[in-house]
Amino acid sequence: MILLDEPMSKHTTFKVGGPADVFVIPSSADEAIAVVGACRRLQVPYFVLGKGSDLLISDEGYRGVMISLESLANIEVQGNVLVCGAGAALKDVAHVARDNGLAGFEFASGIPGSVGGACFMNAGAYDGCMADVLQSVDVLDANGEVVTIGVEDLELGYRTSKIRTDGLMVLSARIELADGSKEQIGQKIDDLTRRREEKQPLEYGSAGSTFKRPEGYFAGKLIMDSGLKGYTVGGACVSNKHAGFVINKGGATAADVRAVISHVQDEVERQFGVRLEPEVRFIGF
Ligand SMILES: Cc1cc2nc3c(=O)[nH]c(=O)nc-3n(C[C@H](O)[C@H](O)[C@H](O)COP(=O)(O)OP(=O)(O)OC[C@H]3O[C@@H](n4cnc5c(N)ncnc54)[C@H](O)[C@@H]3O)c2cc1C
Repeated sequence: MILLDEPMSKHTTFKVGGPADVFVIPSSADEAIAVVGACRRLQVPYFVLGKGSDLLISDEGYRGVMISLESLANIEVQGNVLVCGAGAALKDVAHVARDNGLAGFEFASGIPGSVGGACFMNAGAYDGCMADVLQSVDVLDANGEVVTIGVEDLELGYRTSKIRTDGLMVLSARIELADGSKEQIGQKIDDLTRRREEKQPLEYGSAGSTFKRPEGYFAGKLIMDSGLKGYTVGGACVSNKHAGFVINKGGATAADVRAVISHVQDEVERQFGVRLEPEVRFIGF
């Protein structure tokens, strides 16, 4: 499917962002490869979109082709391995793992991203991260070849990977899990969900933790201790529930969100000498 001038506010968890010139939803991995090939040949900028849960897209939008992999959402069980399309939701993968008595993916059940985005960021929470469970990924490389890369060669670090540094497109991932009890896996997912609901402002648009964890500190505590809880620009503010989250409390623009982020960076640096680095990616600024 191809859409023109598609508002990115419809495709990001911040619920902000202007139009993408072209928004493509390939229906298969082959189609996704063909779209990237065409963009490269024509030298048109393109961007691979997962669930849009770690992005701040500008109010002007994106000049180029947004490629949404949402249709590549298949999840196949092969023994202890789940073979997942890049667009599969982490929540769905966690539920398939639970239903098949496969343990180790519970950590990701509350992360609102896709498998591709999680590999790119090496997403993690509580006691786990993608590096712990990935076996390999199939990617489209810079030469237009589909190659399989084992986890040991993915250079997975704190919110980074070879996928990120080399501009690879993940098509699918193999996630290797351990045998477990369905009941215990289900209980752990429920427990982690409860903890998120208690601590995080999930009723508002956001991209989760706005900043990376600075060495030796917690971003949320630094922001709270700087007196910035509730700091507001337009429709965006620092959450009162969790200072590590900048939220869209209604009607925010990307410029509002960016202004809150910049002020938080400046004020925390002024008071504590620590420059917070955004975890959320800025696109189209
Ligand atoms: C309420 C909330 C809670 C969150 N909690 C956590 C948490 O606990 N831990 C955590 O790590 N993150 C968390 N996040 C952030 C986010 O969900 C993760 O970083 C997630 O992995 C991003 O995946 P996505 O599919 O949404 O990626 P997107 O936001 O769509 O994209 C992020 C980056 O990944 C790239 N990308 C996406 N798909 C592919 C692909 N197939 N191939 C190559 N590159 C790709 C994009 O180009 C982009 O650069 C949270 C976000 C929210 C809103």
